[in-house]
Parts: sequence; structure tokens; C-alpha cells
Amino acid sequence: MLRKTHAVFAMAVAFFLRLTPSQIIASGFFGVISDMDHTLGLRHRGFTHSLLFVFLAYLFTSALFPNLALPVLVGVLTHIFADMLNPEGVELFYPLKKNYRIAKFRFDSVLGNGLVIALSAALVVLRFKGYSVSLKPLEDFSAFVHALSRLK
Ligand SMILES: [Zn+2]
Repeated sequence: MLRKTHAVFAMAVAFFLRLTPSQIIASGFFGVISDMDHTLGLRHRGFTHSLLFVFLAYLFTSALFPNLALPVLVGVLTHIFADMLNPEGVELFYPLKKNYRIAKFRFDSVLGNGLVIALSAALVVLRFKGYSVSLKPLEDFSAFVHALSRLK
């Protein structure tokens, strides 16, 4: 997927999940960080595209910046989902080196990106029509981890 597709998708999901405006913008940012694996010299679509990374990033931000925990979760998970639409897939269960995918669109294909943009638009429309999903349990978990991290 293209970088802007990842950002738009992450922000649409964040909007659907009723995150705050600043969290929606943060979700767009975290929707593209997984591809910093190039910059960091890591294998592409490896660790930063895995459930292990999602878990660690979520715990880390819950402990230090609880307000960013949900944007991290939304950004990274939507990124992984969108990349699983590529033929190469992602190493979802890193450190296992098996790639998982759900479709075979080329990352730059109009169809693949268009599908994700259409899904984003549908989520925005649904949210305006009153549909949404509550992330209260995850918010509570972040608050719990944050409280634990502050125990002396
Ligand atoms: Zn990626």
C-alpha cells in the first residue's frame, strides 16, 4: 500500500472508533511508522509488521504516553492489515519467518489502494450514521498499564 493510503485508512478507523481529533491525527502518523523498518535496516515487513510489535508498542505507549496507546494500536494494526493485501504479505508472527497475506494486490495497484480508500470512506459514512465500536476495554487496559508503570 502507498503511504498516504495507510495514513488515510488509519485515520478513518480512528474516526470510526470515536478517538479524539488529536488521536485521529496521531493514528495517521502511526499508520506509516511500520515502514521505517527500511530506514532502521530491518527486514521489510518483518518485526515492525508483526503482532509482537503491536503488543510491545501498545504496552510501551500505555506506560509512557497513555493518550497515544490507542492511536499506536490503530495505526500499526491498520498498516499490517493493508499490507496483508499485498502478494508478499507480512511476518505476522515474527520471529517466525513465514509471511501471511489475505490478497494479492500489488502495493501500488489502483485496485488495492482504491479498495482500502473505499473501506475508509465506508467507515466514515458508518460513523456519521451512528455506527461505531467502543474501545473502552483497551482504554482501561492502557490506564492500568500506565498506573502500574508509575508504581514505585
Ligand atoms: Zn508496511
